[in-house]
Formats: sequence, C-alpha cells, structure tokens
Amino acid sequence: MVSKKEEKKIIKQIAQERIEILMNKAFETIHKEPDLAQRYVEIARKIGMRYRVRIPKKWKIFICRKCKRLMVPGLNCRVRIQRKREPHVTITCLMCNHTKRFLIKRKQ
Ligand SMILES: [Zn+2]
Repeated sequence: MVSKKEEKKIIKQIAQERIEILMNKAFETIHKEPDLAQRYVEIARKIGMRYRVRIPKKWKIFICRKCKRLMVPGLNCRVRIQRKREPHVTITCLMCNHTKRFLIKRKQ
C-alpha cells in the first residue's frame, strides 16, 4: 500500500517527467513546426499548474513571460550579454519585444 503522501509525491514526479519530455519535444519541433512546439509548451505549463509542479529553470528561461511562447536563440529571441555595471544577460522575445534579464554571478 502507498500512503496518500507518497502517492502525491509519485504524481508530482510523473508530472515533472512529462514536463521534461514535452519541453524536449518542443525544442525538437520548433524549427519545423512552431505551432506544434507551442502546443507542447502549453501542455507542459498546464501540467505544471494542475499538479503544482514548477517548470525547471533551464526551461523557464526560454518561455516568454508576456506571450508565453517558446524562445529559441537565433530563431525568435535575441540574447545579449551586457558587461556594464553588474554583468547580465538579456533575452528579448522577438514576437512581443518583452525582455528578461539574468545576472551573471562572477567567480571569485
Ligand atoms: Zn514574448
């Protein structure tokens, strides 16, 4: 028998795996079939919301916060490294022009 708590854990694990698979698929298909890739991202987001699982940061970086589209460098987003003041990376979504920034942590 599996306890309710363990059951929840297993469900979350499965949800996480599904998100992983869907996001991988989205990246594979975006060049050929962007609409299909977008569907994968939407399903992954829905699974995340339904089971309260966070989309891993490595994927989240590539989802536009504004239009929720998948951003792929060289295809529909622009990645720039800024060296002034605090060094950071800016990613600009070329579909809605929304930008996001990430600080680069300097090695001591
Ligand atoms: Zn966007």
